[in-house]
Amino acid sequence: MDRTPERFSEFGFIEGLRRGICPAHPMVETGIGDDCAVLRLSDERCLLLTTDMLIDRVHFRLGTLTPFQLGWKALAVNLSDIAAMGGRPVSWLLAIGLTPNLPDVFLEELKRGLFACARRYGADLVGGDTVIARTDLCLSLTVIGEGDQRRLLRRGGAREGNVIFLGRPTGDSAAGLRVVLDDPPGLSAEVQKMLRRAHLEPEPQLELGRLLAEEDLSRAAIDVSDGLLQDLWHICEESHVGAEIDESAVPLSAPLVAFALATGANALDLALAGGEDYALLFCVPPENAERCRRLCRERLAIEVREIGRVRREQGLWLRGSGGLRPVAPRGYDAFREGLREERPKG
Ligand SMILES: [Mg+2]
Repeated sequence: MDRTPERFSEFGFIEGLRRGICPAHPMVETGIGDDCAVLRLSDERCLLLTTDMLIDRVHFRLGTLTPFQLGWKALAVNLSDIAAMGGRPVSWLLAIGLTPNLPDVFLEELKRGLFACARRYGADLVGGDTVIARTDLCLSLTVIGEGDQRRLLRRGGAREGNVIFLGRPTGDSAAGLRVVLDDPPGLSAEVQKMLRRAHLEPEPQLELGRLLAEEDLSRAAIDVSDGLLQDLWHICEESHVGAEIDESAVPLSAPLVAFALATGANALDLALAGGEDYALLFCVPPENAERCRRLCRERLAIEVREIGRVRREQGLWLRGSGGLRPVAPRGYDAFREGLREERPKG
């Protein structure tokens, strides 16, 4: 396999795996291709499974985040995939490769971050494995959730005319990564803190995912991990549709706007392609849109934003001041990014 950065694509590798499998077990409802695998328990209930690995110098860099933040983030990003299916977390497993030089206090803080996140979202540690890694710390988390088989939010559930909603503004995490790595001048301490936090201590939108499923508001969602456009494209591919985003409707947080002003970065670009936001992106039939906005406000005290529409033709379009133009899905492709310059993500 050609693993030069130019030729090696995470998505290409996954597609190859996907072609090689033929699920035969009657419990396997959904394999590769959604935020979680789905195992059928009954006509109503199902188990949701997801896993994610983080490696030092590829996904994070020791010294740029606290061990507490590393633990929190490692679990939070997995819980976010349960949120994207509309499920509830149940339990998690931790496989960890520890380098011999890590002090005890580091491990204590790492555990504290993991358990703080587990308590916050209600998931029990039920197993795992601990080994010695020679060079780089790595953590692999597996989270198990449960959901209502008939009301799952799937990447393949979007339909023409659906309203595309965003659960909270995106782009803050990408700006936070710049703050962590480069410490750009001209930012207030408060803005720095909020952007760092968005990047290092992301909050999965589990309550939102559950509301969307339980109230039957949506049938299609994804959590924004690779970037808004890239993740929207994953929905489009699985649903065999296209999407149009209204640039002026894409929400930009106050810290992101402050960051853009101070650094000259393009806030909209960061919001559309930044990645690692773990906001939910979801599609709602137009007749449910008003109820969706109202229930999110009343029950969760959040303002979900309408940013575009699902179209019949496959492709992505941005509507700006110059009209409608096609746009390529851009975002983070983990393999290419990791191999290119060992640029840390977290
Ligand atoms: Mg996901």
